[in-house]
Amino acid sequence: KNTTEIPSSKASTAKICRSFNHDCVSGTSELSHQRTTGTPGEQEKDKEVAPDTSTSKPHYMLRARRQPSGSTNDTTSTEITSKAYGLPCRGKLSDGVAKVTPPEGWWDRSGIAKDLTARGPAWQPGTGLGDMMVTGPIKQCVSGIGGIYEMTMLELPPVPMSEFRTKADSYRKRQIGSEVDKEDDDESMHNLARKFWRRLGPTMEAPIYGADMEGSLFQGADACGWNVDRLESCLNLLRADAEDGDLDEHFKLPGVNSAYLYFGMWASVFAGHTEDMNLLSINYLHAGAPKYWYAISPEDKQRFESLAVSHFASAASSCSEFLRHKRYMLSPSILKKAGIGYSCQIQRAGDVMITFPGSYHFGFNTGFNVAESTNFAVPEWVPSGVAAGVCMCHPHSVRIDMSRFTTLLKNYDREMSAADKKGVPRISYSNWAKLEAKRRVDNAQESDSEDDMDNANTITFRKGRVVEVLRYAPGKSLYQGEYASKKKQPSKSSRKAVAEEDDWRMALRVKASVFTPGTPVLCFLPCDDGPGSEMKEKYFTGTVSQVVEGHARCHFASTPRKDDIWLAVDGHQLFLDGGSAEPPAGPSVKIASKRQTGAKAVSAKKKLRT
Ligand SMILES: [Zn+2]
Repeated sequence: KNTTEIPSSKASTAKICRSFNHDCVSGTSELSHQRTTGTPGEQEKDKEVAPDTSTSKPHYMLRARRQPSGSTNDTTSTEITSKAYGLPCRGKLSDGVAKVTPPEGWWDRSGIAKDLTARGPAWQPGTGLGDMMVTGPIKQCVSGIGGIYEMTMLELPPVPMSEFRTKADSYRKRQIGSEVDKEDDDESMHNLARKFWRRLGPTMEAPIYGADMEGSLFQGADACGWNVDRLESCLNLLRADAEDGDLDEHFKLPGVNSAYLYFGMWASVFAGHTEDMNLLSINYLHAGAPKYWYAISPEDKQRFESLAVSHFASAASSCSEFLRHKRYMLSPSILKKAGIGYSCQIQRAGDVMITFPGSYHFGFNTGFNVAESTNFAVPEWVPSGVAAGVCMCHPHSVRIDMSRFTTLLKNYDREMSAADKKGVPRISYSNWAKLEAKRRVDNAQESDSEDDMDNANTITFRKGRVVEVLRYAPGKSLYQGEYASKKKQPSKSSRKAVAEEDDWRMALRVKASVFTPGTPVLCFLPCDDGPGSEMKEKYFTGTVSQVVEGHARCHFASTPRKDDIWLAVDGHQLFLDGGSAEPPAGPSVKIASKRQTGAKAVSAKKKLRT
């Protein structure tokens, strides 16, 4: 298929690199990537475009990690540069979204029988794909008129994929007269888009979207490093802190770096949003009808947000991050009237869409289709991640501790440049993080033998322990990172100052039902306060402000509500604040202090009971 340019001049087809030239990564907030504007087969004819020297932005080579299996284009190199894969050209992270059409053979698709229609033998009832359950399909009920819409989601019972397709087909036939279109050229697609916006509204029968279903159709294939479920992105550095981070074969941050499947039908929509933590996203359309995308021009981002606030004022007043609820739609004509730039893209089966940090995008499906997507990061994402707001309306919002992340990234970069100097090959983010996790576990075992009380997990149910408590310094978020200010954070000194108050309190492990709004709590949180990679967990005093689905929202005095965090009520990070306590004896009498602490814990608990 051709990767054709569509309406806006900003729309572009591009190949994006996830394997970066690290020498270029320094002090920049904008990533240049190379862009392709033709079909993969034409590459030889094209001259290489020199790196964009008009800006002093670094230039990244595009490459797949490995040769596609079965490729006849055998080389001794294990890497393929952009030249072998597409037309080298230029682009910027600021373009918002980009479409990538991988060349033939990048993935053999054996599992889904090389069938891009999603209707062939491998997709019929009785096959793995046909019988795959679409868990929690969502009915998308639309309210609103005149280009300003709000969606309400209704969860429906699971259905097998083939049944979902039957529903999708009959829905499309009722709505626009046909189950499948023969034509999928640009003009037909733009016509469908006009039809979609004309019909959208409360009188339209609600479409169903099988969205956000954990799973992958890549079946573990390498897919030249583009397997959406196995991306080697720098988010994998977080594996260093994961429990059993060195053991699991594939590290998953649910909903962040593991893949989700999406089963679409005509008029099912994804409302305007940016990704969690302003991450990048990748969306691969496995099979079926095209997906129609809109992306807000990054220079109009703030104006788009203001326009959304003005149209959805009550939602905006209850949550400053209301667009993260993914329920609000403004039509292209509303955007045009407001002078907000946007681009359109048609993603056909086999195409990949990449969305860049903080870029707003929305769109709809033109018929039954199956897509797979996930979030990922590149080092240049960090400033966007630091700036990202988090919706606090529910406990499951994704939040990445950016301070910790940047520490890991720096440590990784430092070790890799040391490796370069020694001529040792670099290792992947995942493998480095695995080693790091192993180091952490080994260190913990060592210190456990020294002091087995120095761990929140040793606080047992109904037993307390005297812990040293810190407070969030006023106006400063625990999660603020060094990249935010571009200079060293005075994190160490401010935490020291707090620690000087010498506040010791009793941490009590209690039943989950104890945590109700207003409960004083101690939160055991990672906090990163040194140049080393060692992450320390410390106790912070807070108050429960809300309890939802087994999670308590903890608020910290003198901090804005956006710095609240959700903790599981039965997790190892949340304790009842049992009141102030005498500090244990100094570290010089460690063994003695341990016993003393234990004894005190019991007596304080008794006090609390009476
Ligand atoms: Zn919210």
